[in-house]
Amino acid sequence: MSTEATLLERCDSKCELCAAQSSLSPYVVAPHTQITVDHAIMLCATCSSQIEQPETMDANHWRCLNDSMWSQVAPVQVMAWRQLKRLSATESWAQDLLDMMYMDEDLQKWAEIGMNDDEDKPRDVNGVELKKGDDITVIKDLPVKGSSMVIKQGTAVRGINLTDDPKHIQGKVNGQTMYIIAEYCRKK
Ligand SMILES: [Zn+2]
Repeated sequence: MSTEATLLERCDSKCELCAAQSSLSPYVVAPHTQITVDHAIMLCATCSSQIEQPETMDANHWRCLNDSMWSQVAPVQVMAWRQLKRLSATESWAQDLLDMMYMDEDLQKWAEIGMNDDEDKPRDVNGVELKKGDDITVIKDLPVKGSSMVIKQGTAVRGINLTDDPKHIQGKVNGQTMYIIAEYCRKK
């Protein structure tokens, strides 16, 4: 089954935050960038547009978090926490819900990453920031665009460089400089 089909089955064709049954699309919970079952949630257009443009946020719409914050799905919990955190600046009910919410320590860390202003920094598969000069291991086979070459899972890359795009880092593989998706790296 495709990732999207798995997600649709998980959410029972309802928005995972507000339960609307309108058109749904997968939303990747930052700092992750790839649609996977563990990192993406299915959202309606209302939820996703208000998340992407927080200045258009309608506080009443987000009363739905009262239910979705109890979801068993990790990325849903993370997104519910972030939205409540944003709303709590002006809405006391959001602060009350935040106080009731319980998340595992790992999820709490993930949720907080997205709330900082450093979303423009490349992060590895575990959300650890990647810096110039770090050594990393590639965690899955990566085809190289425009060639038949594959960077094999387990390839070690020493002394990476950063790029303008936080989704990619740069490193030397077999003597050639390559762009590598940051999320497919693990920092050594
Ligand atoms: Zn929704």
